[in-house]
Amino acid sequence: MSRAARPASSGRYDVAVVGGGPVGMWLAAELHRGGVRPVVLERHAKRPAHSKALTIYPRTMEQFAMRGIADRWLAEGTPVPSTHFAILRNRLDMSFLDTRYPYTLFLPQRRTEELLEEHLAELGVPYLTEHAVTGLRQDETGVDLDVDSPSGPTSFRAAYVTGCDGARSVIRAAAGIDFAGTPDTWRTIMGDVELASPPQAPALTLNQPGGSLYMVALGGGQYRLATIDHATMYSLSDGPVTFGELRASALRIAETDFGMRETAGAWLSRVGNATRQAACYRAGRVLLAGDAAHVHYPAGGQGLNLGLQDATNLAWKLAAEIRGWASRGLLDTYHAERHAVGLDVIDSSLAQCGLFANASREGIALRDQFNAILGTDPALCRELATRLSGLAIRYPAPDQIAGQRVPDLDLRGAPAATIFGLLHPAKFLLLTQGTLMDAPAGYRDRLDIVTAELTADRPEWASVRSLLIRPDGYLAWAADTDDAPPLTAWLGSALSHMQQESTTASGQHACAAPATRSASPACPDPVISSAPNHMTKASSTATAAAATAGRRAHGTPLPRRQAPAGQAVTPTSPIDAQIMCPHG
Ligand SMILES: Cc1cc2nc3c(=O)[nH]c(=O)nc-3n(C[C@H](O)[C@H](O)[C@H](O)COP(=O)(O)OP(=O)(O)OC[C@H]3O[C@@H](n4cnc5c(N)ncnc54)[C@H](O)[C@@H]3O)c2cc1C
Repeated sequence: MSRAARPASSGRYDVAVVGGGPVGMWLAAELHRGGVRPVVLERHAKRPAHSKALTIYPRTMEQFAMRGIADRWLAEGTPVPSTHFAILRNRLDMSFLDTRYPYTLFLPQRRTEELLEEHLAELGVPYLTEHAVTGLRQDETGVDLDVDSPSGPTSFRAAYVTGCDGARSVIRAAAGIDFAGTPDTWRTIMGDVELASPPQAPALTLNQPGGSLYMVALGGGQYRLATIDHATMYSLSDGPVTFGELRASALRIAETDFGMRETAGAWLSRVGNATRQAACYRAGRVLLAGDAAHVHYPAGGQGLNLGLQDATNLAWKLAAEIRGWASRGLLDTYHAERHAVGLDVIDSSLAQCGLFANASREGIALRDQFNAILGTDPALCRELATRLSGLAIRYPAPDQIAGQRVPDLDLRGAPAATIFGLLHPAKFLLLTQGTLMDAPAGYRDRLDIVTAELTADRPEWASVRSLLIRPDGYLAWAADTDDAPPLTAWLGSALSHMQQESTTASGQHACAAPATRSASPACPDPVISSAPNHMTKASSTATAAAATAGRRAHGTPLPRRQAPAGQAVTPTSPIDAQIMCPHG
């Protein structure tokens, strides 16, 4: 697909998405579905030929499935029913996972980016190449961006700006958001190279006293060869990697260079362990997603997945804010929900680095013992695989069932065969096994109501009468009675018929957003407090799964933060209960 710059239509948009990498593109697509007008500003004319990421995990595939486009990835990717932890030889089986995608899908990031760009073009979202953002100023109604464009310096104004501009984010710096963490203390090397004598298997992992080596087939005779070479990684070299360096490293660890060929197209690179996270994912009208919000060593292949899931979480909330129906505090739940998930992924990466990058005798013993335990402890393997898959993520909620991911359950009597088929428009979904009802007037632009039976093969969901599912596929509310769902709490006040029509028809609300939450340049520290329980007695019977899922992102209980001393916290809605912003 051509990436020729398309001209800006008016220069006024609801959201300027800065950075046309995978996260920016997915966010723009989701914003468009939410009924607002995004524009993507990308500094480069062409995307890089190489791919950083190779792996797509189950929860990301589920996101694509919720929008009806998963088949595009399935048509090209290679499903591998396992993953690894800390580059250890004993792999983690994924086939037991409760999803339609129980595997790691191998697909080079470049193809994911091309598929996303094609998708954006289908939606008609403007993607402007050679538009490098250099600065910003925000006021009460919007943000002005300084942009270097092919026709010279120009400016864009939008109601909100999202920084999806990678690890060295200009947007993050311009918004004054701290990127707290640690710099590189070691660097490993890798290459996407041709091999004359590759191993038989499409993937190989070696753990030796001198380090580890990882290799995976990329197709077309190409292999990714990465070494964690204890002999050289601490030298912090930052010059270009040479074939000689990669060959010597492979020889040290594997005693062979697998017939590495020195071809012109090979991508050789250093990868460091710098680990940082934005202190705040929001500063007023500026929000961050993807690598702009978090960086870590790519252990376990999680960064791209994390960023794409940030985007899905953010888009519907930002669209709701711009369209004027967001409940008070909804947009701040983006930081509250995703910062914690980002921290879990960072901890996972650091833990893996602790196992493979410790060159001491103790470190090697720890790595080898942990590897041996993985080989004999299926429960540990399942737990680690579940964490990496993204399927265990759940968000803070006042009860046992809300906040968890809704699986793609089979339906009987619905316009789609499964729940994900009903989430294509990215609206709230009220799925009820009770009496058929129509969406109340004023909510139709943001809520679908479907009466259907959940098929009986999932007993843990059998007693649920109604589910209110968020546009990102997480559960807002559930009941085992015919109680009315808390629509106002989640969906705001119903818009008048006329307001709705003007909203959905034109989608033009640039800078018309109510200046609800005042800009809070310091990161609002989320305070999670007890809240009214919006789950009726269904929660006791609804799911055993919920009990397991009723934990923080990856299996550990959610921390419950207390209000700072002297600060009154009075939740007035589920969202207020979930996050109360002291700066709000
Ligand atoms: C070696 C390696 C292997 C990896 N493997 C995996 C893996 O297997 N699985 C996984 O999930 N993750 C992996 N990752 C991480 C993954 O590649 C990143 O998390 C992902 O690229 C982040 O996407 P992004 O869109 O946030 O940022 P980026 O991909 O960095 O995209 C940012 C975009 O913003 C643009 N931009 C920057 N500044 C400006 C500006 N001022 N104005 C306009 N545009 C701008 C850039 O040109 C770029 O297009 C790996 C990373 C590395 C280094």
